[in-house]
Amino acid sequence: MIRRNVAVSTDEIEKQCHFMEEIREMPSRPRTYHVVTYGCQMNAHDSEKIAGMLEKMGMLEAEHREEADFVIFNTCCIRENAERKALGNIVWLKEIRKKRPEMIIAVCGCMIQEPGMAEILLRQYRFVNLAFGTSNLYKLPEMLFTILNSNRNAVYIENEDVIAEGLPVRRLRNDSAYLTIMYGCDNFCSFCIVPYVRGRERSRERKDILREAETLLKSGVKEIMLLGQNVNSYGKGLPDHTNFAGLLKDLDKMGVPRIRFMTSHPKDLSDELIEAMAAGSHILPQFHLPVQSGNNEILKRMNRHYTREKYLERVSALRSAIPDIGISTDIIVGFPGETEEQFLETMDLVNEVRFDSAFTFIYSPRKGTAAALMPEQIPEGVSSERIQRLITLQESLQKETLSRYIGLEEQILTEGISKRSSDAVSGRGKHGVSITVKGSADEIGQLLNVRITGIKNNTLTAERMQNP
Ligand code: SAM
Ligand code: SF4
Repeated sequence: MIRRNVAVSTDEIEKQCHFMEEIREMPSRPRTYHVVTYGCQMNAHDSEKIAGMLEKMGMLEAEHREEADFVIFNTCCIRENAERKALGNIVWLKEIRKKRPEMIIAVCGCMIQEPGMAEILLRQYRFVNLAFGTSNLYKLPEMLFTILNSNRNAVYIENEDVIAEGLPVRRLRNDSAYLTIMYGCDNFCSFCIVPYVRGRERSRERKDILREAETLLKSGVKEIMLLGQNVNSYGKGLPDHTNFAGLLKDLDKMGVPRIRFMTSHPKDLSDELIEAMAAGSHILPQFHLPVQSGNNEILKRMNRHYTREKYLERVSALRSAIPDIGISTDIIVGFPGETEEQFLETMDLVNEVRFDSAFTFIYSPRKGTAAALMPEQIPEGVSSERIQRLITLQESLQKETLSRYIGLEEQILTEGISKRSSDAVSGRGKHGVSITVKGSADEIGQLLNVRITGIKNNTLTAERMQNP
């Protein structure tokens, strides 16, 4: 199939808006919806767009999926267990629908875009009314209109690498917002399915990003999280030669109180970006820099294009420019052929870097990726034992790593009431670590100035300071 890289035309978006209005006028349309989201922030933001479109069609959100007229599963396929979980929940809903036959079940997201999944859905999951891939998201109104009028099930999968501007969004939070700056990925790390299910890398135009940020700022948003699979390579192929450092500088000038971003690839982490972060007033001192492995041979077979030495050098460069920066990472254990010695090099790197936090994963073979065909797949028992050792090491180091924050002034954006105490609130500090402090429900969504007093279960505790 030929891939196309296109900006969806304004005529097409208007056409979809027209379908939203048509559905709104239909007497027999679904009245309520529920979106079930799996996976990363990209998916969470796609779900906000889905909810935005459904609300324009006149639907209201149902708290529980079993009560909704339209239930949509926004799936992830990065590891096999993410996929298994989604499929299990979709089958469970089939039983519920026996009591509510009017319920419409839809499935979308990365899993649908996997090779062979359309056939599986058509054969084994025939109770699913609508399925569509990541490229078709913006056509949800038209697809729903078609099935509502034909009483037939439909599967839509296209391999267009599109950018759709101007879709309605129903944001989950008023204080913090996702802002996608680029879609897809061109890196083809040998373990990863993302480039196959999210398409080739493409950047949104700077003017569209700045316009969206301006609107968010005016609406009172206090934090913007810039999203992309590899934000460091933002701008490739754009006519105005903008890069990520330039975009950050523009956003910093705009005055959004807090700017965060993810994810960064170590191979594209430039000095210019580090300088822009250090010079900025609103770019938070935190960096998610996935290392994946501490062994050069494994990194090479992962197709990561950096060495252990280069990674450590980039960490040093970040720390010399922004001394208190919070660094987090992703690590895969049990990559095909990983020996005990190679795994110990990963343990050694974790010991050396002292990450604020690490997301650890057992390698999961994904059909269609290069690593799935590599010999010497590691037995489950070996990988489980290795990941346990890695988690134990990270936890033992984390307490000491986080203790450097004790006594420091911090600022948190409160996300909710603390799970451990009803008279405390918690949220993320500027360095990316979760912090709990005395507070009440009416302070949720506020920026609070605090001083760090201690560590509890890998999060920080704090006392209140005067707000400016
Ligand atoms: N673009 C990001 C980057 O390059 O760091 C990563 C995006 S991916 C959604 C998040 C993490 O999932 C990766 O950093 C990697 O650690 C993990 N991951 C991806 N494919 C995996 C696989 N097949 N098995 C286990 N973990 C995987
Ligand atoms: Fe996957 Fe690598 Fe792209 Fe990240 S950079 S999304 S790990 S292919």
